Amino acid sequence: MASPSLDIAVIGAGIGGLTAAVALQQAGFDVDVYEQAPELTEVGGGINMGPNAARILYRLGLGEALDREAVRPIGVHQRRWQDGRTLQRVPLNPLCEELYGAPHLTVHRADLLSIIAAAFPPERIHLGHRLIGFTDKGDHVETWFDNGRRATTELLIGADGIHSAVRARLFGEEAPRFAGCVAYRGLVPVDRIGDLGLELGSQSWVGPGAHLVHYFVSRGRLLNFVGWTEHDTWNREDWTDRATIDRALAAFEGWHPQLSRIIAAADTCFVWALFDREPLPCWSAGRTTLLGDACHPMYPFMAQGAAQAIEDGAVLAACLAAGGDPVETLRRYERLRLPRVSRLQQMSRANKTRFHLPDGPAQEQRDADWSRLPDRSPETLSWLYGFDAAAVVANDQR
Ligand SMILES: Cc1cc2nc3c(=O)[nH]c(=O)nc-3n(C[C@H](O)[C@H](O)[C@H](O)COP(=O)(O)OP(=O)(O)OC[C@H]3O[C@@H](n4cnc5c(N)ncnc54)[C@H](O)[C@@H]3O)c2cc1C
Repeated sequence: MASPSLDIAVIGAGIGGLTAAVALQQAGFDVDVYEQAPELTEVGGGINMGPNAARILYRLGLGEALDREAVRPIGVHQRRWQDGRTLQRVPLNPLCEELYGAPHLTVHRADLLSIIAAAFPPERIHLGHRLIGFTDKGDHVETWFDNGRRATTELLIGADGIHSAVRARLFGEEAPRFAGCVAYRGLVPVDRIGDLGLELGSQSWVGPGAHLVHYFVSRGRLLNFVGWTEHDTWNREDWTDRATIDRALAAFEGWHPQLSRIIAAADTCFVWALFDREPLPCWSAGRTTLLGDACHPMYPFMAQGAAQAIEDGAVLAACLAAGGDPVETLRRYERLRLPRVSRLQQMSRANKTRFHLPDGPAQEQRDADWSRLPDRSPETLSWLYGFDAAAVVANDQR
C-alpha cells in the first residue's frame, strides 16, 4: 500500500519535474528532486498556458504569485501573414475563468519556474546531480549521479526532458529526430513598440511554410515572440552562430510590417530547433516511470507541452495518493495519461501542416473552416481545458 512515507526521487527540475514534486509532497510523500544543472534555469521567453494547466497550479496554492507575474490575455487573434486579415478571433479571459474556473495565462518561463520552485523546500532540490544510472531492486530503486552521489528510493520519476537518460535506460537509446522546423525567439520591452497599439492578447500569424506567435509576459512589460520556419537540415553550430535579428527579419521578409517592427525591437534573438520522437507505447517499468517531454515531447503547435507535463504530475500524485501497490499505480497513471497526450501529439503535428499551407485552395478551405468554427475558442477546446486531474482519478474504475 502507498503510504505517506513512500519516498520518491524526481529526476529533472524543469516545469514538469518541479510541478510533480510539489504535487507529490502536498499529497504527503517524501520527495527529492535531482537536477543536472548547477542552478535552476529556463531558457527562452514565454509559455502560453491553458486553463487545464493553470487550474492545477492554482490548486497547488500558486495563484497569488501567478496573478502577480503572469498576464491574462483577453483573446487570441489569428491573422494572415501578408495583409493581417483576421482568420479567427476568440476571447480567452474572463471567459476561461467563467467556463473552467481558471484563467488562460501567458507567463515568462523563468517566472513560472521560480513560482513552482518556491513551493518546494530548496534543501530537497539537489542541483549539480546528473543521473547516469539506476537499478530497480524490486522493492526499491538505486540511482547514481555523475558527482558520485547515490540515492535509494521506493520510486523513480524521470522528468528529464526530451533527451531523457531515464527513458533511454528503460526503453533503449534512440536519438530524437529533427522536425524540420526552427524557431526564432525574442523578448521586446513593450515601451519600444507602444505605437503599434497592441491589445493585451495573443496574436498568431500564419503563412506559407511559417508562422509567428506573439503575446505578453512579465506583468505585461515584455512581448514574447516565436517565429517558426521550415528547414530541411539542422546543424547546431551553423544555426546558433547566425541566429541574429537580421536572420529572423529575413525569415519573415514580405510578412506584415507589424512583425518586422516587433522582431527589430528585440535586443537579441535566439534560435531553437524542434525535435521529435515517436509516441511511446508505455512509460513505466517496475518502480520507475516518466513524465513530460521525457515520454511525450510534442510540437508546441497546440501550446500544450508544458501543460501536459503539469497534468502528468497532478495525475501521478492523485494516483499514488489513492493508494495501492506502487508498481500497479504507475501503470494506472500511464493508462490514464497516454490517450490524451497521444491525441495532443497528433494534433500538434497536424497543426504544423495546417498553419504552414501555401496560399491556394487548401489554405482557402482552412480559412473558411476557421471562420465558421474557430478551433481556438475555449468552447471548442472544452475537452482540453476542462481537464480535472482529481476527477479523472476519482472516476477511474480500477
Ligand atoms: C519554442 C517553444 C515554445 C513552446 N511553447 C509552449 C507553450 O506555449 N505552452 C506549453 O505548454 N508548452 C510549450 N512548449 C513545450 C514546453 O516547453 C515543454 O514541453 C516543457 O518545458 C517540458 O517540460 P519538462 O519538465 O518535461 O522538460 P524540461 O523542461 O526539458 O526539463 C527537464 C529537466 O531535466 C534536467 N535533466 C536532463 N537530464 C538530466 C539528468 N540526466 N539528470 C538530472 N537532470 C537532468 C534538465 O536540465 C531540465 O532541467 C514550447 C516548446 C518550445 C521549444
